[in-house]
Amino acid sequence: MKTAARPQVYSKFVQQVQASQVQRVTIRPNQIEYTLKPEFGGQSYYTQPTDRHDDLVSLLQSHGVEFTTLTDTTTDTNGTNAGILGLLLSLGMMLGAFAWLLKLNKAGGGVGSGMGSGLGVGLGVGRSNARTYSQGKTGVTFADVAGVDEAKQELQEVVDFLANGDKYRKIGAKIPKGVLLVGPPGTGKTLLAKAVAGEAGVPFLSMSGSEFVELFVGVGAARVRDLFSRAKRQAPCIIFIDELDAIGKTRGGGIPNGGNDEREQTLNQLLTELDGFDGNEGVILLAATNRPEILDPALRRPGRFDRQVLVDRPDKSGRAEILRVHAQGVILGEDVDLDAIASQTAGFAGADLANLVNEAALMAARNNRQAVLMADFKEAIERVVAGLEKRSRILTPLERQTVAYHEIGHALVGALMPGHHKVTKISIVPRGLAALGYTLQMPETDRFLLLEDELRGQLATLLGGRAAEEISLGKISSGASDDIQKATDLAERAVTQYGMSHLGPVAFEKNAAQFIDGSSTRRAISAEVTAEIDRQVKHSLDQAYAMALAILRLNRNLLEAATQVLLKQEVLEGEPLQAILAQVQAPTELQAWLTNG
Ligand code: ADP
Ligand code: MG
Ligand code: ZN
Repeated sequence: MKTAARPQVYSKFVQQVQASQVQRVTIRPNQIEYTLKPEFGGQSYYTQPTDRHDDLVSLLQSHGVEFTTLTDTTTDTNGTNAGILGLLLSLGMMLGAFAWLLKLNKAGGGVGSGMGSGLGVGLGVGRSNARTYSQGKTGVTFADVAGVDEAKQELQEVVDFLANGDKYRKIGAKIPKGVLLVGPPGTGKTLLAKAVAGEAGVPFLSMSGSEFVELFVGVGAARVRDLFSRAKRQAPCIIFIDELDAIGKTRGGGIPNGGNDEREQTLNQLLTELDGFDGNEGVILLAATNRPEILDPALRRPGRFDRQVLVDRPDKSGRAEILRVHAQGVILGEDVDLDAIASQTAGFAGADLANLVNEAALMAARNNRQAVLMADFKEAIERVVAGLEKRSRILTPLERQTVAYHEIGHALVGALMPGHHKVTKISIVPRGLAALGYTLQMPETDRFLLLEDELRGQLATLLGGRAAEEISLGKISSGASDDIQKATDLAERAVTQYGMSHLGPVAFEKNAAQFIDGSSTRRAISAEVTAEIDRQVKHSLDQAYAMALAILRLNRNLLEAATQVLLKQEVLEGEPLQAILAQVQAPTELQAWLTNG
């Protein structure tokens, strides 16, 4: 950059990168230098980002631009680096570099992400390093996000608040302030937040919760304050806090130490800011987390993050849509069947699918092909799956089969039981970390009392999963542990609290509340009675299990057929599900058991 570099406006620079005119970029803490490709004149420029571009690194990567990130100021382009000013600058830089190293450490050597966050660090520690998009646009729209239709629908409303705020204000409606996006990693939460800004055409100020954790006490709080005051000036706009759990963990958990103190101060500042503005000013706060359970309850109070949007892993058709989005920029061979790929990628999140398409394209290029073939996708799937299996998200075919039989077992048994619980959905798309599949039973009306026959029905339904595994595979798995726990608790309550056994209407609650002084409300129970309770609980469970087995043996063919459908479609609901459930036949002994046990 010795030949006189010329100044350039930042927005023009971004345009040039997007038009693939840029050859090489050097990113300094407060200046960006770049050179155009020879065919575009080869001229060098420098530009001052008005605000940090959140995605500069990925933008550069996606356009194949060479870039270097420097955190020193030793070479100068405009010759102002001297004397005391230079000393001050390099002091600032040392702080910057220090924070940057910490970030690199945290990212676990992930150079890409380390560099991404390193961009924001520079002079002015207290200043928020939230990044805005210069034109007020993220360039992302809902069309870029696929397979999460419900989330999009809910966020459409937020777009409307931002784009047509007056409509709501005129009529006196209160616009919500905070929306929390909850879902597993890589499902598109960050992408959705950007899409909301893109759709509404408003600025997007983002920062990541994890950026706060390593700061000195007080700095995080100052940044939050700064972030909100900037947002108010730019309204209507969106503030996005990624990884909210990093600052939003439940407070006062342990012995205070530096890190905790800092986090608590930051969280308190965030709560203060949340209370200090209202959605009608045109600022809407979005946040994302994949660990909602550890968030401080104060964050969820009305007037704070009172809306939650679930961003879940996509089902088969969702995966096909996501593949279509990411295949847009790739030349596909004639034999590529994206729907077939979608069926082979159960459990993949959007980010995994994006990664898959790219792996396949790399594979094709490595083999000097003109287009990506199905064979490339096959190989890429194996690679990605191998990576994911380590994180134990992908089921082996046998596991999937077990889960499918198990869930159908619940549903078929549940279909015969009294109590107006209707099975409405069965899914074997893995959700979260715990559940491999689930069967959704919705009560048709609110119920406050549980009748004895309904209780037996619930026991049999809970054990139907295990029974289906035993009948169809001849083997049982650990997958039923939660069902068994629930069934046991319920059977025990029936005896000890509801008086529904031959022990009669006596409360034998074994784990009643203890008072502070050590006394408890529990009645003294003799060893014989305790043993009798245990016997009775076991008896009810055995009977319920036997009934579940009897039902599934009688409906063996239906169990088989329904499981095959579920394995193919992953989700069963609505008409097709009800049609299956309507075919379940009741064994003759069912009615007597329900009434008399
Ligand atoms: P999260 O914030 O939930 O961890 P991201 O939004 O960061 O996930 O997703 C990372 C990348 O994966 C996105 O930039 C996009 O390329 C891809 N991706 C994830 N989910 C989707 C989706 N639903 N539709 C299209 N692409 C997706
Ligand atoms: Mg994210
Ligand atoms: Zn189960």
